[in-house]
Amino acid sequence: DPRIPKISSAIRVIPNFPKPGIMFQDITTLLLDTKAFSDTIDLFVERYKGQNISVVAGIEARGFIFGPPIALAIGAKFVPIRKPNKLPGEVISEEYSLEYGKDKMEMHVGAVQAGERALIIDDLVATGGTLSAAIRLLERVGVHIVECACVIELSGLKVCGANLIPLAAFSITVRE
Ligand code: IMP
Repeated sequence: DPRIPKISSAIRVIPNFPKPGIMFQDITTLLLDTKAFSDTIDLFVERYKGQNISVVAGIEARGFIFGPPIALAIGAKFVPIRKPNKLPGEVISEEYSLEYGKDKMEMHVGAVQAGERALIIDDLVATGGTLSAAIRLLERVGVHIVECACVIELSGLKVCGANLIPLAAFSITVRE
């Protein structure tokens, strides 16, 4: 697709952020390019429209940027999956392992119903740990995950190790 190289080149790489040795993929420059940003949304919408998806679940924080326009365009609701203690209502939560330590993600009780079909959105997949935790959270309440979608995939890392779920994931661009 001729749109993909332009999307890819609109994503900036910042070396040594937030720690030495990390090449941070910065999607804020993609948001400044109205054509590349709308092409990004269109690529997802073309893939997911007509698939009877009623929920787009976005992972904090950058899943909140890409998720809502996709949700509106495919006629689905948007459900935020947030870091702990951010959502004001009753939540269900899922713990997951990070490189060092653990974290948790939360979703409002009642936001989704058993039997709904969901798409999970984030900006980037690296190990797949974050997406796996989101899948577990939604599956616990009986939601069917159609797919996970990311703008960027860090190649070689997506292959999931222990305690990760094999992901049905789609990414627009792959970074070495
Ligand atoms: P994973 O759980 O190892 O797949 O890491 C994915 C999570 O880390 C996502 O929520 C990303 O937003 C975040 N992340 C990791 N590396 C980067 C990066 O280079 N740019 C932006 N987000 C990143």
